[in-house]
Amino acid sequence: MMHPGLPPGWAALVGVAVVVLSLRTLVALRKPTIEPQVRRAAHSAPGTIMRHVTALGPWLLLLKIALVALFLLIVTAGLFGTPIPERNLATALTWNIWWAGLILTIFFVGSFWCAVCPWDTLAGWLVRRRLVRRAPTNNSLNLRVPRIIRSVWPALLLFIGLTWLELGTGLTTNPRATAILGLAMVVMATVSLALFERKAFCRYFCPVGRTIGFYSQLAPVELRPADIEVCARCTSLECYHGTDRVEPCPTHLAMGRLTENTYCTSCGNCVSSCPSENVVWRLRPPSIEAVQNARPHWDEACFLLALLALAGFHGITMLPLWEEGISSFARLVGDSGTLLLSFSIALLAGLAVPTMLYSGAVAATRRIAGIAVEYKQLFSGLAFVALPLAFTYHLAHNLGHVVRESAGIWTLVFNPLGAGMQPLSVAEKQARHMDLLIRPELLFTLQAGLILFGFWVALQVLRHRGQRLLPGGVLAGFTLLPMILLAIAFTGFHLWLLMQPMMMRL
Ligand code: SF4
Ligand code: SF4
Repeated sequence: MMHPGLPPGWAALVGVAVVVLSLRTLVALRKPTIEPQVRRAAHSAPGTIMRHVTALGPWLLLLKIALVALFLLIVTAGLFGTPIPERNLATALTWNIWWAGLILTIFFVGSFWCAVCPWDTLAGWLVRRRLVRRAPTNNSLNLRVPRIIRSVWPALLLFIGLTWLELGTGLTTNPRATAILGLAMVVMATVSLALFERKAFCRYFCPVGRTIGFYSQLAPVELRPADIEVCARCTSLECYHGTDRVEPCPTHLAMGRLTENTYCTSCGNCVSSCPSENVVWRLRPPSIEAVQNARPHWDEACFLLALLALAGFHGITMLPLWEEGISSFARLVGDSGTLLLSFSIALLAGLAVPTMLYSGAVAATRRIAGIAVEYKQLFSGLAFVALPLAFTYHLAHNLGHVVRESAGIWTLVFNPLGAGMQPLSVAEKQARHMDLLIRPELLFTLQAGLILFGFWVALQVLRHRGQRLLPGGVLAGFTLLPMILLAIAFTGFHLWLLMQPMMMRL
């Protein structure tokens, strides 16, 4: 069953807006002004709600218990339920709802999922052996993570591996494999917690957590000091070290120096431990961190490019022409059976092509600008352009799946193992296909709006990062042409992907 794509009229509208915005940026003043970070009211309504949820232990604990129970139900359904993917809660909930919906939640509440993640909750209960509050002894060897892997490289490798499993081996249509993958994540989180200090799994290894972390740079909420001067005068640093009752920051963040959401798991420990009650949730312009606050690093730049590459690759594998293309390629390289070799080559190409395009655009920008800034520095600094492009396409793509494939999930809640169920008939598939959560016009408006928003943020990133990379403001106007063309190319590619009929996940 195929979903219809974005109508050409919508794509044309976005195309016109992209051209206008690009021309405006090209003729813009050579020295764009960097906006000061907007300090919004510390007690905004969403901020107050999240502060209460994270600061009040019982609410957070209840949420964690509910999600652990749901996770265990998914594992049970996957291991012991029907192998029919659309009739088993493990596959339907994990891939149709959770994985697709997770990206949507980041748009509203940043990394809040990490605060209630059942993998980490189970690992904590198994190792610390306490449901709430800080355990007197944390039952960990408390080793330091070796310097060589103190980066996002491990998470990037696991992210690529996860994509290979998900798309290459058909994991998404296999309830048992889905359950085993969930258990494997718990094992990795538990072993990491038992070996290393604090939560190394969340900071360095978890591909889902790092994806959420980077996308959270675009979230409209942040956890920050209410008064930066209070933190400047603070010598006890409870937010970093914890207290007798509250665990320290799991990812080694000191609130007074926090400028980006990337490694904050929204756990709320700092909210509970700060003796000055100086930590608050607040609203902010959603792009400000990617545009100017986040600091560039080489490994993180590569992760951002991988996000962009894999978002597009994911879209390609759901097109009707994918099956035909991969089969032809397999015949060419003499591959047969599961076509894993052909898929692996295609995946590597899917990673390499966007990276090479980006590298070429950075080199061209450097040459046109004639500036004496290191290539690696420019590569890392401008890589934030990938973030809004990847995030908004990922969101628009997932929105299509959630809106069109959520029907029927309630029947699985009452029969999670799918006992006695038959595969979906063509008529049932057709009925689900027509049963959208929102009107198609609204879906298309949201998808087109997201792609345009992503492009607009990408232009802001280029203008502001360009100025920052060379204080003289050389990287502005026409010198940014290669990078702007790159952003246009990816936006056009994403629009084209959204216009294609898309296969249902299950
Ligand atoms: S958040 Fe609280 S504990 Fe942390 S540095 Fe600021 S005042 Fe000190
Ligand atoms: S700064 Fe650290 S302690 Fe505070 S919510 Fe984020 S991860 Fe938790």
